[in-house]
Amino acid sequence: MITLDNNVGGYLVRAFAEGHAVHAYIVEGDKAYVPDLLRQCATIAMCPTHSICGCDVCQKVIEGNHQDVITLPRDGRARLKVEDIAYLVEESSLRPVDNSVARVFLIDATSSTSGIGSDLWQNKLLKTIEEPIADTYIFIGVTDADGLLATIRSRCQTLKQTRLPSKVIANELKRRGYDLKTCQIASLMANGSLQMAEKIAVDNGIFDAYNTAIDTLENMLSTKVALPYVSRIASNKANVTHCLAFMTVLLGQSLHYRIAPELFELSSLKNSMDKICANYSIQASRVCIEKINSAKKSLDDGCNLNVVLDNLASGILEVRYRCRL
Ligand SMILES: [Zn+2]
Repeated sequence: MITLDNNVGGYLVRAFAEGHAVHAYIVEGDKAYVPDLLRQCATIAMCPTHSICGCDVCQKVIEGNHQDVITLPRDGRARLKVEDIAYLVEESSLRPVDNSVARVFLIDATSSTSGIGSDLWQNKLLKTIEEPIADTYIFIGVTDADGLLATIRSRCQTLKQTRLPSKVIANELKRRGYDLKTCQIASLMANGSLQMAEKIAVDNGIFDAYNTAIDTLENMLSTKVALPYVSRIASNKANVTHCLAFMTVLLGQSLHYRIAPELFELSSLKNSMDKICANYSIQASRVCIEKINSAKKSLDDGCNLNVVLDNLASGILEVRYRCRL
């Protein structure tokens, strides 16, 4: 489990302990960790000592069993609907039930800030935030606060995990005994979070996805051989976005390798870099990064995985051909 870093955690603890907590917070973090981060925020709000002390209240919140901590979207959906916010409005008018001082709403909006309906739930939520109800706290989890409507942002306080430079993270992982390749890859993919880097470093599923990304850019060179790569990316379902994200990092690093060597941070993958540079011209690398990013967005918007990956593979191959050296 990732923990709120000292900046964010300490800030929130003080805000609640000293009685100047606001009613609505935006919590910005990596997608996979937003649910954990939100639950920790709820713990700080609910715990009698406003810390994560491990008391009965803390435990109930962390285990997801606290009746006054309500998580949205409901029913295990990924995307928020207006109905979720209607439920929040209804519930927020009720008194706490679990012997507690407040009610907390945790909104996982990581898949809901773009695409159809994203304005609807935000506008509905806006009304609630504009007229806060006493002893009600709302935490909105996002990967990028700028994806929310400006009107929401201006009425919430934003809490961000502090981001460390990847070189600092790589050095710390090395100090903890990880091999160079693991340190370099995990630090580039950790979005500035040391905890996330270490989680990546020990996760075989994620590393499989990274190896698939390397293999795809090294060897997926014609439409004839594209299918097995698409299937391989799709088969590691939980880590598709990791795979796509690492493809953009590899292509980005291949640009540094050629244009700005001082920014190149994958010395352990030099052989792969040589192959990727031979396969993708500078122009092709740039265009492919855009293509992969828009594929990631389509997946976030709920488009069919195989269709998105098929289109991406043919798009990449076409760009590779069109922008050849
Ligand atoms: Zn506690």
